[in-house]
Amino acid sequence: MDKFEQIFRNNEIWVADKLEKDSEYFNNLVKGQSPDFLYIGCSDSRVTAEDLMGVQPGEVFIHRNIANMVVSIDLNVMSVINYAVKHLKVKHIIVCGHYACGGVKAAMQPADMGILNPWLRNIRDVYRTHKDVLNAITDEPARYDKLVELNVQEQCINVIKLAAVQEAHKERGLTVHGWVFDIHTGKLIDLKINFPKILSEIMEIYRLD
Ligand SMILES: [Zn+2]
Repeated sequence: MDKFEQIFRNNEIWVADKLEKDSEYFNNLVKGQSPDFLYIGCSDSRVTAEDLMGVQPGEVFIHRNIANMVVSIDLNVMSVINYAVKHLKVKHIIVCGHYACGGVKAAMQPADMGILNPWLRNIRDVYRTHKDVLNAITDEPARYDKLVELNVQEQCINVIKLAAVQEAHKERGLTVHGWVFDIHTGKLIDLKINFPKILSEIMEIYRLD
């Protein structure tokens, strides 16, 4: 059996397993979703959101793209955030990066990546913003790791800039978190982004309500 066919076999096993544990499983799933979390992560096949968080279908609303970017003119990510905050009323928004991120690495290399160029440019902008800190790190892998962390921090800031997020924070205490998945150990690292501090710092410029 090839890998493609195997997927449908896997699915049959998964369905049977779910129904064995709870015969109403899919009847309950179809009723709707009310997740507490919005997760914005990288498309990397090694960083599977539900697996690494140990959560089940229905618990996390998910958006993934190359290098977990939150770009203000990307209608896709903007729609996801807006829907999650305004309609699903999630309590937490998580931006999760990961070490050894190919997107971050590609942004650091001077190569023409075609259609990816404008996307990677957003990561290059993060490098430019934190150039002094990054250039002071002589060890190259350590510098990549730091850029992964700073990119998460900057994308959290991009989330905090949004009117819907600012409103929901004021009204019901919505918070934004920055995580890194350490692909070497499998561990999730909370960067402990100081949400209230960043919010108060950027409000001067980005206040929208
Ligand atoms: Zn990645």
